[in-house]
Amino acid sequence: MRFSGLRVLKEGLSGNKGWQAHWRDAQPKRAYDMIIIGGGGHGLATAYYLARNHGITNIAVLEKGYLGGGNVGRNTTIVRANYFLPGNSEFYSHSLKLWEGLEEDLNYNVMHSQRGLINLFHSDGQRDAFARRGNAMVNQGDDAILLDREGVRRHLPYLDFEQTRFPIYGGLYHPRGGTARHDAVAWGYARGASERGVDLIQNCEVTGIDIDGGVVKGVRTTKGPIKAGKVGIVVAGRSGQVAAMAGRSLPVESHILQAFVTEGLKPVIDHVVSFGMGHFYISQSDKGGLVFGGDLDFYASYASRGNLPMVEHVMEAGMTLMPMIGKAKILRSWGGIMDMTPDGSPIIDKMDGIEGLYIDCGWNYGGFKAVPASGWCMAHLMATNTPHEVAEKFRLDRFRTGIGIMDEEGTGSQHNLH
Ligand SMILES: Cc1cc2nc3c(=O)[nH]c(=O)nc-3n(C[C@H](O)[C@H](O)[C@H](O)COP(=O)(O)OP(=O)(O)OC[C@H]3O[C@@H](n4cnc5c(N)ncnc54)[C@H](O)[C@@H]3O)c2cc1C
Repeated sequence: MRFSGLRVLKEGLSGNKGWQAHWRDAQPKRAYDMIIIGGGGHGLATAYYLARNHGITNIAVLEKGYLGGGNVGRNTTIVRANYFLPGNSEFYSHSLKLWEGLEEDLNYNVMHSQRGLINLFHSDGQRDAFARRGNAMVNQGDDAILLDREGVRRHLPYLDFEQTRFPIYGGLYHPRGGTARHDAVAWGYARGASERGVDLIQNCEVTGIDIDGGVVKGVRTTKGPIKAGKVGIVVAGRSGQVAAMAGRSLPVESHILQAFVTEGLKPVIDHVVSFGMGHFYISQSDKGGLVFGGDLDFYASYASRGNLPMVEHVMEAGMTLMPMIGKAKILRSWGGIMDMTPDGSPIIDKMDGIEGLYIDCGWNYGGFKAVPASGWCMAHLMATNTPHEVAEKFRLDRFRTGIGIMDEEGTGSQHNLH
């Protein structure tokens, strides 16, 4: 089934009876060439690119809940390529280019909106750091414009420019940054993978990984054992638990990150705005809700909900930056489980010492924007057994050797500081 304007018109005039399910609800076969554990954004994108780029279609994606029920459907949808360090910089640049062609590629409206992202700065030191970041972005071939205070005011006149605690000195403007509809990204990749023959199996929890003589043989699941030549662990906040099934411990801690949405309002915020000093960021969804969040809850947990102290902190930060949002009513808040690495950068690698086992994790609180490139690079790794050139620095052993640590924020090697 192809989507097009003509199709929408035709269906609209004929009672919308011709739409089909977006993917097959498959049941597991006894064996596959490859298994992807985790039906989030990264797992689905990996399966899609394995089929699309490498012609490997005898694949199952095993999801313990429903497709898109994890962080891919819980994030605040920001898509950007404004990283500083080599390794991250080329990877996220590649990802943004994939985003820019994603709707045509998937024939699916993921509502990618390049409305521009502005990171505010509040001191001379921060201005220097953002100037360096902007230069790194431009050198990578991406876009960045350093705005002074009046430049920020032209874009974001509703901010409180009079506050003295964190006066607004300026901002780093990334015009190609923006948002995308998170569920649609999961659904679009699911549909594309299923169309190419991938089995998407929901309510199928992986409970064990079978390894014989250092070689992966398959997995055990709540729907029975399934054999496979290669297995990819792509489970975000559950990475530590699933890696433990293979007898491995990962340099990952799972932390809670919360998000909030208000009632629908008329268009007021037409960018993504990030207020680093207050730990607050915000955008407005296409339905009109203000979507915002802040920092981690600062304790390790597998619960998909957060605590009130962080709720209060985020509200205070929002009110400091733009007091007018105090009038909006909060509709919902929720939490997601973040796979935090010590340097805040991800891992896409083979699992040490186990042939046929691969790991894609450590997305911290920024893995939504990474979905296309992560899927692309994980598929490349699983298909060819060699890392893709834009992900070759995402090595697992950097945490053992200390070589190649990518501490983007310069905050040190502590999970909850990233
Ligand atoms: C509140 C919040 C805001 C965020 N904001 C942004 C943002 O603005 N921009 C951005 O880039 N990133 C953001 N992120 C981060 C981003 O959402 C994640 O990094 C990313 O979605 C993680 O990858 P995923 O989509 O594959 O994860 P998930 O969707 O969580 O997928 C993992 C899947 O694995 C499944 N699974 C786990 N264990 C098993 C098992 N044993 N067997 C089978 N299946 C299993 C889970 O059920 C889950 O569906 C945010 C996250 C949160 C929570």
